Amino acid sequence: MDTLDLLVVGAHPDDAEIGCGATIYRAKSQGKRVGILDLSNGEPTPYGTPEIRSKEAKNAANILKVDLRITLDMPNRYLRNTIENRKRIADVFRQYQPRVIITHPAQDWHEDHIICHQLVNAAKFQAKLSNTESEFPPYYPPRILYFDHTHMREQRRIDFLFDVSDSFEKKIEALRAYESQFVKNTKNQGIFEILRSRARWLGSQIGVQYAEGFQSPEFLQVNDLFSL
Ligand SMILES: [Zn+2]
Repeated sequence: MDTLDLLVVGAHPDDAEIGCGATIYRAKSQGKRVGILDLSNGEPTPYGTPEIRSKEAKNAANILKVDLRITLDMPNRYLRNTIENRKRIADVFRQYQPRVIITHPAQDWHEDHIICHQLVNAAKFQAKLSNTESEFPPYYPPRILYFDHTHMREQRRIDFLFDVSDSFEKKIEALRAYESQFVKNTKNQGIFEILRSRARWLGSQIGVQYAEGFQSPEFLQVNDLFSL
C-alpha cells in the first residue's frame, strides 16, 4: 500500500467532508494521495442504517476522488479515549504514513468530536513509539491541523485560510451523497447554506470566492515574506 500525503480523521462519516471536503478535493486535484478515516459508522441516526451510511460514505469518497476510506467500528455517541482506540488509530498512521493529518478542533458541542480530537492527538504520539506490539514500524506524523466544523456555533479560532474556490462545489456534491442525513432528514438541510455562507465569508477575508479555515496547534514557518 502506498503512503498518503493527507489523512482526514472524523468521528463519523460526513465529518471529514463538512470540515474540509473542498481541501480534500483540491489536494486530489494537485495529484496528492488522500485518505479519510471515520472512527465510527455514524449509526444510529433517525434516517440511516449501517448499510445506507456505508454506501453514502463510499459515494462521497468517490466524488472527492479519495484513494482510501477506512471506517472503524468505534461506537457512535459513546466514543471513548481509551488506550485501545489510540492504538488502532496509531496503527493507521503507521501503516499509511500521512504527511498531514487533519481532524476535529478541541472546541465542539458533540462529545464524539471532542474525543476524536483527543484520540487523534494521542495516536499521533503513540504512532512514534518503538517496542510496541504493533505490526507496523514507528512513524511520527509531521503535521496536524484542525478543521473548522459547523457543529461549533461559538467564535472559532482560525489560524489560516485555504483558497478552495475551485473545489467548493465538490464539497457540496459529496455532502449531498449523504442523502439519509442531509436530504431525507429535513432538520439538517440547512447545512448546505451554512457551509456556503461560511466559506464565502472566509473567502472574502482573503479576496477569493471560497475558503476553508484551519487551526494549527504549532507555529507555521514562513520562508518568503513576499509570498504572504
Ligand atoms: Zn460528527
